[in-house]
Amino acid sequence: MTDRIYMSAPDVGELEEKYILDALRSGWIAPLGPDVDRFEQEMAERIGRSHAVALSSGTAALHLALLSQGVGPGAVVLTSTMTFAATANAVSYTGAEPFFIDCLPESGNMDPNLLEDALRTLTAAGERVGAIVPVDLLGKAVDYTAISEISQRYGVPLIADAAESLGAMHAGKPAGAWGDVAVISFNGNKIMTTSGGGMLLTDDAQIASRVRYLATQARMPVVHYEHADIGYNYRLSNLLAALGRAQLLRLDEMISRRREYRQQYKRLFDGVPGISVFGGASDADDNCWLTSILVDEENSGFSPAELGSALTSRNIESRPLWKPMHLQPVFRHARGLINGTSNRLFDQGLTLPSGSAMTQSSLGLVESTIGQFLDSRA
Ligand SMILES: *Cc1c(COP(=O)(O)O)cnc(C)c1O
Repeated sequence: MTDRIYMSAPDVGELEEKYILDALRSGWIAPLGPDVDRFEQEMAERIGRSHAVALSSGTAALHLALLSQGVGPGAVVLTSTMTFAATANAVSYTGAEPFFIDCLPESGNMDPNLLEDALRTLTAAGERVGAIVPVDLLGKAVDYTAISEISQRYGVPLIADAAESLGAMHAGKPAGAWGDVAVISFNGNKIMTTSGGGMLLTDDAQIASRVRYLATQARMPVVHYEHADIGYNYRLSNLLAALGRAQLLRLDEMISRRREYRQQYKRLFDGVPGISVFGGASDADDNCWLTSILVDEENSGFSPAELGSALTSRNIESRPLWKPMHLQPVFRHARGLINGTSNRLFDQGLTLPSGSAMTQSSLGLVESTIGQFLDSRA
């Protein structure tokens, strides 16, 4: 690694080394093994779900979550425009059509009123809505109280994209415990990592076994491998599950560190005109995965890109918020209910180094770089 300060670098050490080495020496190198089973049990317990299925990525988990709800060609899937492309890509893999819903200004999460408007219009027009897929942006859970109620009233399955929100809560219940199915990601930059991996969570035993079956090439349990469905090679390997088990033991410690860094940014920007910490007014239930700020150029006197360049010049990584899906060339023909909120968040947002592997002295460097930039603009 260089001296570069990253937004969210993997946070691994001796415990992870030990778990991987133990798995390697146990001989369970072949894809599945006892660490996969234990990782699934431990995660299901942590989140309070009956079943967890470890998969090769969060994207694979989203794909199978959609298939498990019968989503396919001819269906419309209502999802957040403010997300990483994986959510919308997974919808496209099934042959269904993504329909993008705009977000609330304070969180970037799916606006329940817009969701309901879209459902009303689409169902009145006789369209088949296959699923609702909201996204817990940057580790803040969506308003599942409102969205679960809407999904039940319309009889449309709810798939929670909790890829970014492991450890967060809503109304006293963990992210990942909401929805008919929920999905988390263990990609390298997420709150905990298996270097690459994901998990599907559900309370429905039939969904869990269907997903396990589809994730192992839809292999029927006979010696000659009978196949009645198209399957996928989507399971997590035993070595990576071992890494995940070590990371899960450290999850709370990693969350507290990210929360501590969030507090420090809040103090740094307190009283700075035109700048607010995104989602920072109500983050007690968040996992604080990434800390972003909103820069209102009219009041700050500078753009987020200018602050970003000042950080880049000191080898510090920063990035705009996710570019909304309805602005992406690949989804330019997609339908949606867009009111401009996500466009504004994309224009104003800047995500700052937030990882738990970052040292206090690295954060000090980030803070002094920002401080000098603010002074130079005052
Ligand atoms: C990271 C992420 C995913 C995809 O997870 P991978 O494990 O990288 O495939 C899906 N949705 C959201 C919102 C994400 O941030």
